[in-house]
Amino acid sequence: MLIVMQPNANEEKINKVIDFIKQKGFDAHVSKGENHTVIGAVGRKIIDKRDIELLDGVKEVIRISSPYKLVSRVFKNEDTIIEVKGVKFGGGNIGMIAGPCTIENYEQMEETAKRLKESGVKILRGGAFKPRTSPYAFQGLGEEGLKIIRKVADKYDMAVTSEVMEVSQIPLFEKYVDILQIGARNMQNFNLLKSLGEIRKPVLLKRGLSATIDELLMSAEYILAGGNREVILCERGIRTFEHITRNTLDLSAIPVVQKISHLPIIVDPSHSTGLRDKVSPMSKAAIAAGADGLIIEVHNNPDTALCDGAQSLRNEEYSQLHTELKEIAKVLHKNLN
Ligand code: PEP
Ligand code: MN
Repeated sequence: MLIVMQPNANEEKINKVIDFIKQKGFDAHVSKGENHTVIGAVGRKIIDKRDIELLDGVKEVIRISSPYKLVSRVFKNEDTIIEVKGVKFGGGNIGMIAGPCTIENYEQMEETAKRLKESGVKILRGGAFKPRTSPYAFQGLGEEGLKIIRKVADKYDMAVTSEVMEVSQIPLFEKYVDILQIGARNMQNFNLLKSLGEIRKPVLLKRGLSATIDELLMSAEYILAGGNREVILCERGIRTFEHITRNTLDLSAIPVVQKISHLPIIVDPSHSTGLRDKVSPMSKAAIAAGADGLIIEVHNNPDTALCDGAQSLRNEEYSQLHTELKEIAKVLHKNLN
């Protein structure tokens, strides 16, 4: 951290700042320029930079080290590759996840999974506990839903991802699912993140509705700091003033994250656009922008879906998209799996 003093800051003010940062556990390196004195605060402690900005004689405080450690490429330079049932995310691999928003019944999951498997998908999605805006909307089948998705996935030799909403549900999810999904609304549920650090299954961490990229990475840091190194990040659109699409897909988050972090980042074109006809174009754009995978909502009969039918692809639409994405991956010399 660099502390730039005001031009008129006298020795007494400078020394007070030095004493303050030393007392907080930092070493102080002073550089006296023609106009400004700059104090370099070096150390591993966490400090609120506003506490220094408020000290007498301080002009500006500039943070130079990033607040995240384990998720950063400074800690680990090579891409983290996360493998689930033979499907790889990251390091030149594009992992595909597809399935309905919500698990509704066995037939719905069975029909959808069968077609997805034929298209080449090996990881099935489906919510059993749904974070719905309205308490009167369908809340999901709960454990019954997890049993259904597990049974169907086993039938087609697929892996499962589903959203865990609270700490007490983790043992249930460890039993039935292969990847634990953290929804946008829970990205900063720090107790949940800490508990996920203790398990040894991959976590799919979705970006919050209004979360910055820094905040997404800090949330991933919680999981890694707990000891679980398998986190897949997910850009799922953020809230902006634009209302024609459900959210605004921030594709620039992909290269931004990939520069800072070794973790894979995938894209959810379904929740980010909210409209079925926008899903294919944005899926292709995401792959072209370097995404390490996609999670796409697909329903065997979207017109009857209990949740998010309007943004769900029909089975045949997904199949067509999968074929096209494979072609794009080839051009990029990547492996779509
Ligand atoms: C979901 O994937 O079903 C979901 C609710 O997504 P998000 O948390 O991104 O809104
Ligand atoms: Mn959904």
